[in-house]
Amino acid sequence: MLTGVHVLLLGGDARQLEVIKKLSELDAAITVCGFDGLHSPPQGAVQATFDESLFEGVDALLLPAVGTDDNGLIHTVFSDGELKLTEKHFTHLPEHCVVYTGMAKPYLKHLCQQRNLKLVELFERDDVAIYNSIPTAEGALMMAIQNTDITIHGSACVVLGFGRTGFTMARTLQGIGAKVKVGVRRSEHYARAAEMGYEPFYTGVLLQNASNIDLLFNTIPTMIITAQIIANLPSRAVIIDLASKPGGTDFRFAEKRGIKAMLAPGLPGIVAPKTAGRIIAECLGQLIMDETIKRGNGI
Ligand code: NAP
Repeated sequence: MLTGVHVLLLGGDARQLEVIKKLSELDAAITVCGFDGLHSPPQGAVQATFDESLFEGVDALLLPAVGTDDNGLIHTVFSDGELKLTEKHFTHLPEHCVVYTGMAKPYLKHLCQQRNLKLVELFERDDVAIYNSIPTAEGALMMAIQNTDITIHGSACVVLGFGRTGFTMARTLQGIGAKVKVGVRRSEHYARAAEMGYEPFYTGVLLQNASNIDLLFNTIPTMIITAQIIANLPSRAVIIDLASKPGGTDFRFAEKRGIKAMLAPGLPGIVAPKTAGRIIAECLGQLIMDETIKRGNGI
């Protein structure tokens, strides 16, 4: 349980409502900002006005999927008010306070470093990334259906990258009967992809594998679908780029060639905010509990 643990939760979207619910079930004392646009405050939380004094005595500071932007602004969908995190706010946090977010930009990392506060980026964790790959693959599949005039069953699909997202993407496509090729760079991934019934190839020879593709899903966060690759794709091909911004596709050239290409960030929060929220909530609940036990034991 989190009895006596003070959590300050700033901004976010529907996913944070699941976090509040979970932490409230665990009996944490929760203060929230950025939810004043809701008809009623989230159950189990105290709604407060954004102010430096809120940061005093906080054990866990929770920020949304992308902690802040490059200027310290916290994204919030349930309020018109601005939440801007500054050094001043951080000076009020106790030194044991842990800061949790999905992923942190340099601005937030810098604030934490200055105060020597522990920063946890949840989306970097394997467990969260693997669970998140489920709504990501479902969202990508939805986009594939919406942007093609053929069934995914029987279509020629290529998945680039065989990490946490690529693995689930390939399996999801195979599950509905697509012909799945997987682009990898490691021999063990090549072997695993072959074992799972995909047709593997090395990303170094992507060009030679580009000529017969209906759907190209990218999970590699570097420029991989270059102008040269796009020039060799059939005109019917659709690119769904799942890698984090700016993605791995030359979107300018795709547009020039008339190839449909779309960057699809943040799919879990878009297609399944409740599930995505629960994934974060389960992980956070456990992490804050572990941290509280450690502190209690003087570790
Ligand atoms: P991951 O587990 O690290 O997988 C990335 C894969 O890309 C690995 O197989 C890696 O190969 C491969 N790779 C990286 N650089 C490469 C290169 N230069 N050439 C060939 N292969 C390369 O990451 P993930 O969790 O699957 O996430 C992948 C991307 O999707 C990230 O950008 C993440 O932010 C994003 N993402 C997006 C959504 C969304 O909603 N769109 C949701 C979740 C994640 P090695 O194993 O050999 O390193």
